Amino acid sequence: MALYRWETHAHTAEGSACGRSSAAEMVRGAAAAGYDGIFITDHFYHGNTRPDRRLPWDRWVQEFRAGYEHARETGNNLGITVLFGWEYSWKGNDFLTYGLSPEWLAAHPETVTFTAPEYLRLVRDAGAFIVHAHPFRQADYIEAIRLVPESVDAVEVYNGGNRTPAENERAKWYAESYALPQTSGSDTHFRADFTGGIITERLITSAADYADAVLHGGITALLPEYGP
Ligand SMILES: [Zn+2]
Ligand SMILES: [Zn+2]
Repeated sequence: MALYRWETHAHTAEGSACGRSSAAEMVRGAAAAGYDGIFITDHFYHGNTRPDRRLPWDRWVQEFRAGYEHARETGNNLGITVLFGWEYSWKGNDFLTYGLSPEWLAAHPETVTFTAPEYLRLVRDAGAFIVHAHPFRQADYIEAIRLVPESVDAVEVYNGGNRTPAENERAKWYAESYALPQTSGSDTHFRADFTGGIITERLITSAADYADAVLHGGITALLPEYGP
């Protein structure tokens, strides 16, 4: 039986101010680490984004999507699936947003003027799938832990950027407590930092395939898989 490995949370130097490797390097790193596909989820407008916020909206989106576009070119050459998403920040609480295109984003400048609850309603009504990234991370830039279980579709119970095991353990406790589906992501900012993601038996060729796997038991294992 074939098993496939997918990265759900990755940044690029093109899209994220904290990205340390170019999109092309990130895809080559994912391929070297055995992944079959990768979601590019750069920091969105209210987070640590790369494009200048003073740009007109269409120009801003054009620069923001560059990491994904470059990743896709490399992915096409290497046979690695590259899919688009972004990481929306609400004062340091991060919501991975999957399933909407760069074109949708360009047509929706209100994504940056809406409050976070309004944003979550807007994108989910438009068909987005929301994963609460590292919900229990504690860091200087995070004002408070904010839980909105009715406004998310799944919880990232492993995040490669968390500094303590307790931050991941609490996320798992949160998901279990609310019966929210669980997923995993490296949150990698560097070509060699791939630790998380998911294993499936079926190919993922779209965000809808990913949502389907998370929501309907299509995940064979969450990474990292700890041995006995
Ligand atoms: Zn970052
Ligand atoms: Zn991230």
